[in-house]
Amino acid sequence: MQEKIPEELIDQIVSQNDIVDVIGEHIQLTHKGRNYFGLCPFHGENTPSFSVSPDKQIFHCFGCGKGGNVINFVMELDSLSFVEAVQALAKRSGETIPDQYMPDSNETTLTETEQSAINAYEWAGRLFHHVLRYTDDGKDALKYLKERGFQDQDIEQFQLGYSPYKSQFLVSFLEQKGFELQSLVDTGLLSQRDGNTIIDRFQGRVLFPIHNHQGKIVGFGGRAIEEGVEPKYLNSPDSKLFQKSKLLYNFHQARKPAQKQDEIILFEGYADVIKASQAGIKHGVATLGTSLTEYQARLLSRYVSKVIICFDGDQPGREASQRAAEVARKAGLQVLIANIPYQMDPDDFIQSYGEDKFQNQVLGTAEPYVAFMLNFIKKDFNLHVQQDQLTYIEKALDLIATVDHAVERDVYLKQLEENFNLYRETLEDEIAERRRINDRRHEQAKRAKSDNQSSRQPKRRDAIYPAFQNAERQLLAHMLQNRYVAEQVQERLGSKFNMQEHQVLVTYLYAYYEEGNEPNVSRFMERLPEETLRQLVSSLALISISDTLEREELDDYLFAILKEADVDQEIRSLETMLKNAEKENDPKSAARIGMKILELRKKSNKSKL
Ligand SMILES: [Zn+2]
Repeated sequence: MQEKIPEELIDQIVSQNDIVDVIGEHIQLTHKGRNYFGLCPFHGENTPSFSVSPDKQIFHCFGCGKGGNVINFVMELDSLSFVEAVQALAKRSGETIPDQYMPDSNETTLTETEQSAINAYEWAGRLFHHVLRYTDDGKDALKYLKERGFQDQDIEQFQLGYSPYKSQFLVSFLEQKGFELQSLVDTGLLSQRDGNTIIDRFQGRVLFPIHNHQGKIVGFGGRAIEEGVEPKYLNSPDSKLFQKSKLLYNFHQARKPAQKQDEIILFEGYADVIKASQAGIKHGVATLGTSLTEYQARLLSRYVSKVIICFDGDQPGREASQRAAEVARKAGLQVLIANIPYQMDPDDFIQSYGEDKFQNQVLGTAEPYVAFMLNFIKKDFNLHVQQDQLTYIEKALDLIATVDHAVERDVYLKQLEENFNLYRETLEDEIAERRRINDRRHEQAKRAKSDNQSSRQPKRRDAIYPAFQNAERQLLAHMLQNRYVAEQVQERLGSKFNMQEHQVLVTYLYAYYEEGNEPNVSRFMERLPEETLRQLVSSLALISISDTLEREELDDYLFAILKEADVDQEIRSLETMLKNAEKENDPKSAARIGMKILELRKKSNKSKL
C-alpha cells in the first residue's frame, strides 16, 4: 500500500534539484536581470517567453501560461505523475525514496496495459539480445552483423537482438511470464494470424530496440537476414507508446553529449548512428523511417542550437536533407549538411575509410544550409542557357537573402559575381531589397500570430487589467512573499476579493501561513490541487514588486478592491430590482434599471468570470 511522501522528504528533494539546473538540462536558458529566459518547451515559439526564477525556484511561461515549481516542470515535460516526478528528481540528485511511498502500477500516468507492454518489451529486448549473443539460433544473425562491421561493443551498447525464425518463440516465453497476449498484439509487439493465432511479429530478423526518451524500449526496428523473408524491413506499428513522429532513435543516449557540444547529428538509419558511435561520435540520432517532423525539430532545438544533417549521398538522400533542413531551420536551428560522397551512406563510409576520415572529411567539412542549397538547386537548370541562368540567379539571391550573417552572405555573393560575371553592386541591391521584404513579412506573421494568441488566451500575455484586478494581483504578489502582509489582509479583507480565482487562492494561502509555514512559493504551490491555480501563482510570483509594502500602498490596494466590491453589490441589488420590475411587467422601470446596470458595469470595467 502506498503512503503519501512526507513533506520534509519532498522539500529535501526539491532543494537538491535547483530549478535552473534541471530546466537548463532541457532548454537553453539565458540570464537576464534576476531571472532566466528560454524557449517554452510546452508551446511552439521563436521568441523566449518562458522564464525561470532562481530566487523563487519557479517557472512561468508568459506565452501559454504554464507555471509551477521544479516538480511541476518534470511532470509536464515527461508526462509523469507527481510521485513519478519526485522519484525522477530524487534519482537525479542521488537520493532514494523508500518503497512504501512508491506508486502502485495503476497510479502512474500509464494505463495498466501500457505499463505491461513496456515490461513485455523489456523482456523481449533481453531475450532477443541473449539469443543473438549466446545461442545457436542467433549464430547466423551474429555473423551477418559482424560482416557488416558491428562490433561486440556496439551490439552490447545498443542492445541489438535476433528473433529466431519460429512463430511461437516470444509468444510462449511471454505467456510463461504471465503476460496477457492479446493486449501485446494491440501494442505491436506480437502479431495475429488470420485474426486468431497469436504469433511472433519479428521472426527471422535482426532487431534494433527503439527506446523512448526515458530509455525504455517501446518498439523494434527489424531487418531480415535471409533472402525471401518479406518484408525485409519491419518496424513496430505506431501506438500510444511508440509514435514515430515524436521519437528519435538513440535520443536517450545522445542528449547529454549533444548538449555538451551544442550540436546534434541527424542520420537516416539506425546503423549510421551505431557506426558513428563506434567512431566516437556519441551525439547522433535518427528518425524512425520518416522525415523529420516539426515536433522532433522543436525537441532538438530545446537542447542544441546546431544540427548537422548526415544523410545518404544519393539524390533521394539529398532531397531528404533539404526537407529536414527546412523543418529544422523553421524551429530556429542552425543547419549544416555533411559531405557524404555520392552513392555512399555514413555507415559505408565509416566502414570503408575509417573514423578519422569520417570526422574530418564528412562532418568537418559540413556546409551551411545555403551553401548546400546553392549547389543542390543547380541540377534543375542548364546553366549554359541564358534563361535558366537568370532563373538560377534569382533563386540563389532568394536563398542568400535569408542568411543573417553579413560575412557569410558576402562569400556567396562573391561566388555569384565570379561565376556569372555580374556587378557586385546590383547583387547587393537585390539582396537588400529581398531582406526588406522578408523583414516585413516576418513582422506581419509575428503580429498575426500574437493577435491569434491573444484572442485564444485573452487573460494572458501583456494583459491589461482593470484597476481593482490589478490591485488584487499586486496585493497577492506581496502576500506570497510576505507573511505579515498576508495577515494584515486577512484581518481587514478576509477572502472578499472580487475575482473568484483570487478568493480561492487566498483561502489556501491563509491556511498555509496558519500552519506556521514561511513564505515559499515553490512549496506553497505543492498544496494547490489544480493546475490553473498553480499557473496563477507562478504568474503572480513573477510580478516585480518591492521587497516591502508601505502602509499607504496597502491601503490604496484595499480601497480599490473594496470600492469594486461596493459597485458589485450595487449591481447585484439592481439586478434583483430588474427581475422584480420584469415580473411586475413594468418595462419603463426595467429599462431605466437596465441602463443603470450597464453604466455601472462599464464604470467598473469588470469582465464577467
Ligand atoms: Zn509556453
